[in-house]
Amino acid sequence: MIKIGAHMAITKGFSKVPEDSFNIGANTFQIFVHSPRVWAVTPIKPNDDVQFKENLKKYCIDPQDILVHSGYLINLASPKDDMWEKSINSMINEMQLCSQLGIKYFNVHPGSHLGEGEEFGINRIAKALDTIFKKTSPDTTVLLENTAQKGGNIGYSFEQLGKIIKTVQNNSRLGITYDTCHGFDSYYDIRTKDGVRKLISEIEDSMGFDRLRMMHLNDSKFDLGAGKDRHEFIGKGFIGIEGFRTFLSFDEIRKIPLLLETPGNDADHANDIMTVKSLL
Ligand code: ZN
Ligand code: ZN
Ligand code: ZN
Repeated sequence: MIKIGAHMAITKGFSKVPEDSFNIGANTFQIFVHSPRVWAVTPIKPNDDVQFKENLKKYCIDPQDILVHSGYLINLASPKDDMWEKSINSMINEMQLCSQLGIKYFNVHPGSHLGEGEEFGINRIAKALDTIFKKTSPDTTVLLENTAQKGGNIGYSFEQLGKIIKTVQNNSRLGITYDTCHGFDSYYDIRTKDGVRKLISEIEDSMGFDRLRMMHLNDSKFDLGAGKDRHEFIGKGFIGIEGFRTFLSFDEIRKIPLLLETPGNDADHANDIMTVKSLL
């Protein structure tokens, strides 16, 4: 059986998410641990964490399949010292909430060098992660998400992600998330078997395939290489229904938890989950 879920709202409390996920046909999910557009991290309400863990059991959701996505303000590659330090502190606070909830995986975009260049950015990210790992529980594994090739984004190729991993001291605490929309934006064409094989071998060569722990399953509103980062419902974009059928025909891909970040609400996500299941 595949692991599949969607990005879920935490507005009704963490403890409500397992049931909301079950109700859309999911057996895992992704969440933010606080509002992603502000720096401040709000503490978890009393007992919400305990109830959250109980409800995971009740709905048979394995905490190792869940992903926390970092807030949007974090930029571990920022050349501006104040923003860089704020990013490090915010990520430490978010990862502490992750530990409190018993969630293993924390997803972050590597960051943008804002014009300072790739090498500068990679070293800056690695240095930030070295600090973060010293100040957080070893139970949390950080997953670097591949990005769309635009702006000063780092992480649109596996070579770049591999370089970050090699530069970080305690890199057993690092893995990656593969986002199918961002990958498509950066010329990874998963609509053909050869394209998927190329993707798998590039991951293998640059970091080892077992670094891939999570998948963001999104279609793309724009064509291959567009670099726009606009997610679309599964099968309704340029990857398309046959593209996803091909992609999901690989055992290596199907065994990774699949998390939707497609547009819309819970009902739309239920629909996308049905679409994915119908392809298997
Ligand atoms: Zn993301
Ligand atoms: Zn994503
Ligand atoms: Zn995106």
